[in-house]
Amino acid sequence: MTTPHSTPWVRTTPAGLYVEPGDFHVDPVRGVERSVVTHGHSDHARPGSRHVLATPETLAIMRLRLGDQAGGTLQPLPYGETVRIGEVDVRLAPAGHVLGSAQVVLEWRGSRIVVSGDYKRRPDPTCALFEPVECDVFITEATFGLPVFRHPDDGHEIGRLLHSLALFPDRVHLVGVYSLGKCQRLLALLRRHGYDRPVYLHGALIQMTELYGRLGVALGETLPAAGVARGELAGQILLAPPSAMHDLWARKLPDPLIAMASGWMRVKQRAKARGVELPLVISDHADWDELVGTIAEVKAPEIWVTHGNEEALVRQATLLGRKARALSVVGYEDDET
Ligand SMILES: [Zn+2]
Ligand SMILES: [Zn+2]
Repeated sequence: MTTPHSTPWVRTTPAGLYVEPGDFHVDPVRGVERSVVTHGHSDHARPGSRHVLATPETLAIMRLRLGDQAGGTLQPLPYGETVRIGEVDVRLAPAGHVLGSAQVVLEWRGSRIVVSGDYKRRPDPTCALFEPVECDVFITEATFGLPVFRHPDDGHEIGRLLHSLALFPDRVHLVGVYSLGKCQRLLALLRRHGYDRPVYLHGALIQMTELYGRLGVALGETLPAAGVARGELAGQILLAPPSAMHDLWARKLPDPLIAMASGWMRVKQRAKARGVELPLVISDHADWDELVGTIAEVKAPEIWVTHGNEEALVRQATLLGRKARALSVVGYEDDET
């Protein structure tokens, strides 16, 4: 691998990461002329760009969420294929975060920069596994960029949910899940662990789950929770977005047992503050060991950290002999809640 150019050809602008020799942005925080989008979460896939390039799955997710605002023209690029934009070769590699999520591999004059977007390293039955790509500059998130964050095995966490269901067969198990990714992963994990009863869904989760189904991800039988008699929900699993967990709708449920699936459930006070009785540590982001391991694996001499706990990861990368800095891109939020 050649040494990176001393003048960075990818830099931050008020609209986000800008790739100068290609004249496009990656995950711009507002509408721009030309954008490449890593995945469908709303802080990465913003409305209003003229031309959008992403995986076919990400474009389908954007169309569902944003309608006509998804972009003027939408150009699908499957994993592994290369297109040239301006002077830059662009390829998308799986990021393992949610369905369609991609790292953007950029090559210009012998230098390779990888924008990883959000990513995780664990296998996830609902999306392609993260592919490490060696590069000169690796641009990484750091949502769980502190040594306290070590995610347990997801099978262990699903086991705890199923155990609780056996212990409390009359309580509806209300599980807070992010609507894109976590909801569908939880369904797939439940099926993988032998749970074959229908799973009830809050209305806000139905369309995205149906889209996953249309895109070929089998999730078993789901039923809308709306209009179901209270008694019928006893002993069932009901998934809902975290925002709906404590509203009137949730309070009307029969003796609900509140659970939440998020990497933040590792923090006991956070679970307690949110009234979560059964915290499930299931994350769609890399934990500390995986962030640090990935930095080593991609062999990049230079690491840029976009969002999360930038400081700790920058320090660790520096200790590993990398040139590292925080980019502090404004506008990226936390999709684990
Ligand atoms: Zn995300
Ligand atoms: Zn993010």
